[in-house]
Amino acid sequence: MTRHSLTTRAVHSGRHDLVDLGVHAVPIDLSTTYPCRDSRAEAARLDVLGAGADDGGLPVYARVGNPTVARFEHALADLEGAEAGVAFASGMAALSACLLAAVAAGRPHVVAVRPLYGTSDHLLDSSVLGTSITWTTADDVAEAVTDRTGLVVVESPGNPTLNEIDIPALVASVADVPVLVDNTFATPVLQRPLELGAAYVLHSATKYLGGHGDVMGGVIACAEERARPLRQLRFATGAILHPLAGYLLLRGLSTLPMRIRAASQNAAELADRLSRHPAVTRVHYPGLSEPRPAHHMNGGGAIVSIEITGEPADVIAAVRVFTPAVSLGSVDSLIQHPGSLSHHIMDPGEREKAGISEQLLRLSVGIEDLEDLWTDLDEALSSAK
Ligand SMILES: *Cc1c(COP(=O)(O)O)cnc(C)c1O
Repeated sequence: MTRHSLTTRAVHSGRHDLVDLGVHAVPIDLSTTYPCRDSRAEAARLDVLGAGADDGGLPVYARVGNPTVARFEHALADLEGAEAGVAFASGMAALSACLLAAVAAGRPHVVAVRPLYGTSDHLLDSSVLGTSITWTTADDVAEAVTDRTGLVVVESPGNPTLNEIDIPALVASVADVPVLVDNTFATPVLQRPLELGAAYVLHSATKYLGGHGDVMGGVIACAEERARPLRQLRFATGAILHPLAGYLLLRGLSTLPMRIRAASQNAAELADRLSRHPAVTRVHYPGLSEPRPAHHMNGGGAIVSIEITGEPADVIAAVRVFTPAVSLGSVDSLIQHPGSLSHHIMDPGEREKAGISEQLLRLSVGIEDLEDLWTDLDEALSSAK
């Protein structure tokens, strides 16, 4: 399918066999077990699957693999330009598997750049999975790497300040240490980190890939060689994606390019208008006014963060079109206060140092009518004390 454009592949990937099956909608396979009369053959397959290989056949047991989930994995891998996709129960389960793979490989040291998604920050900072952490800036990652470093973790654009990292420069600076890029905000529509040298792409599929706020999931796109230990860990730890979630995520992918384009267009216009609003002191949006030394995104995306003069809680309470809720990436617009919600779990001092001020609000812009969104924001901002 790679000869087709991303927009076409988003609709068709993971569905190539449907015509020959004589069905139009993707089948949902809810089996927990797969019957087989030949136990010797089954033992041989379990050896292959348990080692993390994907032989394309039916699984033996649902924790080992699922055909509906595999469709989503193949489609997402195709969009990211990866050999393999490995889906998990959530974005955090996907990140956990990458960390455990580094620990299992005897390289438990992780280097990471702030800001990251609040719970990712917490998972790394607390070292509960047996990793150790050095926090640094994108420019100083190479100095922080040791011979025990198994992974570099970055988010670009970062959550919630939307600062972009020069991914090729960072990858070049750390030689053979694998770099994981959390691509949740950009999606493969705006940025494909594997093409920029990253080893792993992580998505909280809960956000744009699902796109409707009704399904949780996570996925890693990477080379087949790196996918095997992740499948092995998923088999052993059980953090699998449910087949119904796999179905919804595959369906979400088909409208991903259209949703991202429509929402980004709204976001760019709102960012521009907000930068001239009297109650707003600063707008964070990729490509708006400030020079972008490192931009790999073909578009600014659909997240806008603003710093305001008034009380953030008043704005949250006043919006009527925007939904006051944590999370992002849905067709409807959401607004939240990172200091209270998405990044509340961080140490307040580290939060401030990472550029997440108490006056910061994060908007996940949806696909509603632009003027309705603007009026709602303008009225809520003007009502804040
Ligand atoms: C939400 C999010 C995560 C965590 O994903 P879950 O699906 O909630 O586990 C990780 N990274 C980013 C950027 C996120 O927005």
